[in-house]
Amino acid sequence: MARKKIIAGNWKMNMTPSQAVALVNELKPLVETEEADVVFCVPAIDIIPAMEAAKGSNIVIGAENMYYEEKGAYTGEIAPDMLTDAGVKYVIIGHSERREYFKETDEDVNKKVLKAFEHDITPIICCGETLAQREQGVTMDFVRMQIKIAFQNVTADQAKTAVIAYEPIWAIGTGKTATTEQAQEVCAGIRACIGEIYDDATAQAIRIQYGGSVNPATAPELFAQPDIDGGLVGGASLKPDFGKIVNWK
Ligand code: PGA
Repeated sequence: MARKKIIAGNWKMNMTPSQAVALVNELKPLVETEEADVVFCVPAIDIIPAMEAAKGSNIVIGAENMYYEEKGAYTGEIAPDMLTDAGVKYVIIGHSERREYFKETDEDVNKKVLKAFEHDITPIICCGETLAQREQGVTMDFVRMQIKIAFQNVTADQAKTAVIAYEPIWAIGTGKTATTEQAQEVCAGIRACIGEIYDDATAQAIRIQYGGSVNPATAPELFAQPDIDGGLVGGASLKPDFGKIVNWK
């Protein structure tokens, strides 16, 4: 079965609640499509107002992060059932900014992924190499390690529903999109890695996005690649450009 594309916006730390409502209302008519699942991953405080504003549209609201404990003395964190109670279906896990600035480890990512599945939230699991790693030729080794740890104790049935976002760190927010060949090569390598951990059926079912300076000009070629099932879009998801990306065809 052909995989349906999934195009997700990652708003990062942008948009107040009232700005979030205005942006959802502005983008709503622009992101209508049957070709792809359209997800807006927004700051926690924007989730409920954004969801209200998105009602009746094809936009699904997701979160940008989640903690792996159920509840308790974890000041400032968001629990999985806070997300599900609000109606959240997707959560970004292990974005490189979380790893770099908030010291999230591969083990934290794995715990969060397991917790998301436990609560029926689809994780969008981020991976990707630094520029130094790419230049040293260890991209695939590094990404494979991230994937293997992220999927520890995840069942094949769960993995089939997961989303992986391959985001080379040097391409995030830099305006420097990876070439189509570079993006396809790593996404194919990730799919092969999933095939080794599980089986071919799981590898064929899982959706793999590319992220890193995706824009309306680069999206069509990227999304036409056999192993790229959509994008995780930062900067361009805050603008009408996102409508063009979602309607890339
Ligand atoms: P960018 O961000 O599209 O602004 O490069 C992508 C991301 O960090 O998910």
